[in-house]
Amino acid sequence: MPVFSIEAVRQELLVRPGKLLIDGHWRDASSRATLDAIHPATGEVTTTIAAGTDADVDAAVCAARRAFDEGPWPRLDARERRQACLRIARALDGHREELNRLQTLDNGMPIVFSSIYQVSTDILVDLFEYYAGWIDKIAGETLPAYPGKVFDFTLREPVGVVGAIIPWNAPLILCGLKLAPSLAMGNTVVLKPSELASLTALRVCEIIQNEADLPPGVVNVVTGTGSGAGRALVAHPGVDKITFTGGTATGKEIMKLAADTLKRVSLELGGKSANVVFADSPSLDLAVAHAVGGVVMGLSGQGCACVTRALVEDAIYDEFMEKTLAFVQTMVRPGNPFDPSTTSGPIISSRHLERVLGYIETGKKEGARLLCGGHRLDDELSRGNFVAPTVFGDVANEMTIAQDEIFGPVLSVLRFRDTDEAIRIANESRYGLAGQVWTRDLGKALALVRGVRTGTMGVNGYGVIPTAPFGGYKQSGFGREGGRQSLELFTEVKNVWVDLSAC
Ligand code: NDP
Repeated sequence: MPVFSIEAVRQELLVRPGKLLIDGHWRDASSRATLDAIHPATGEVTTTIAAGTDADVDAAVCAARRAFDEGPWPRLDARERRQACLRIARALDGHREELNRLQTLDNGMPIVFSSIYQVSTDILVDLFEYYAGWIDKIAGETLPAYPGKVFDFTLREPVGVVGAIIPWNAPLILCGLKLAPSLAMGNTVVLKPSELASLTALRVCEIIQNEADLPPGVVNVVTGTGSGAGRALVAHPGVDKITFTGGTATGKEIMKLAADTLKRVSLELGGKSANVVFADSPSLDLAVAHAVGGVVMGLSGQGCACVTRALVEDAIYDEFMEKTLAFVQTMVRPGNPFDPSTTSGPIISSRHLERVLGYIETGKKEGARLLCGGHRLDDELSRGNFVAPTVFGDVANEMTIAQDEIFGPVLSVLRFRDTDEAIRIANESRYGLAGQVWTRDLGKALALVRGVRTGTMGVNGYGVIPTAPFGGYKQSGFGREGGRQSLELFTEVKNVWVDLSAC
């Protein structure tokens, strides 16, 4: 794989710098204001994005409203809409490498990770294909209340205008999880990406607009800040549903704001997931690779499903720690994200870097044992926001670093004695998004699967696939995106009573 320079990727960018996509046209923000797009591995300004205002959000929502209320999109035959969604999948597939590179430019995810299935253009394409396949299969039901007298049945209809707000950490899969089921079910969309990484979402929508031949107003993008464009989208009375992925604090704000207009809301929020490693793990090396690699490599812990608490059975605690430190030394290579040998990316912003370093200091003060890392990386990486892969041992579950979502390359390792204690520690968290268990004993694995209150769980491994529901318990949010469950989130049910005696 060649090493691309930031400049080469920037040259390749076809995305409209500084523009918004509204009603099929690219335009400036009404204020003409722009925000810098900053590459987190070097601090360089790569381009600008438009700082969308309330007026821009209003224009985008009105366009989406018109496209929904009067346009052909929700009224297409199933076959036509399926073909349109498949056209989108094919169009995006034709830009696979470019989009993966753009994601790396956007958020600094190392290119080897930006190209793996779970966060790459591959899963984005699959999501469009998967939901295209549902279009002629999602159906209501007939209800046998008064046979021969009344014919009662339900319809599934699109929910209307969807406001989709996504974070910066994995824009390709997140565009797919929001846009694919929304469009397949006949909704129209206004997408608000994060101001920290908007380029990928803009390009995805540009490709859809240019190559898939959708009616104007079906897909709109308003970039800008969360407190500006994001809030305006949530508050707008023309939006029927908000689908949000991001922080728990923001999710709470969104829920409150959406209450005024009683919008449907689904929230995919943070996590502090537990990875329970028993002494009879089928492979301790593999368990360590997942436990450690999943936190300090790739996105460097900036993923909602990262298993940032490793719960290790007493009998293998020392061996686990030895292998962990060896893994960090040999496998974790922070650096230029476009270099295929780089395995660990930067923190998204200098502000967030300070937050991560603050948590590390708190961990030390509260008595956790710092085993490696704990500082910012300097020398040739000093222009970027790199934090050395950090592992804390002897962590107590009450400590701040075991309770808060740090969103950085910081692993907390805790001990447990038996299955009950592992379940109790795993559950002593306000979050419940993901989890893993490593054991050869199916009974123990299922005890964990049943006992831990979390939306997703992996046994001797973990993955995200388009056909499976993803989402959280507790303060990790509600609603499941992916799989059949998304169809429910993006449709309404209408009941119809036909009185046969009058027919
Ligand atoms: P945010 O929750 O702030 O951002 C997510 C998205 O929401 C962005 O598009 C953001 O816009 C937008 N937004 C922010 N505030 C509002 C608002 N009041 N109304 C509407 N939209 C809003 O996440 P951060 O990027 O700040 O990350 C903070 C924390 O969130 C992380 O440390 C982590 O704990 C968690 N997080 C979880 C993610 C997940 O995958 N579940 C992903 C990202 C973060 P903008 O960025 O332009 O401000």
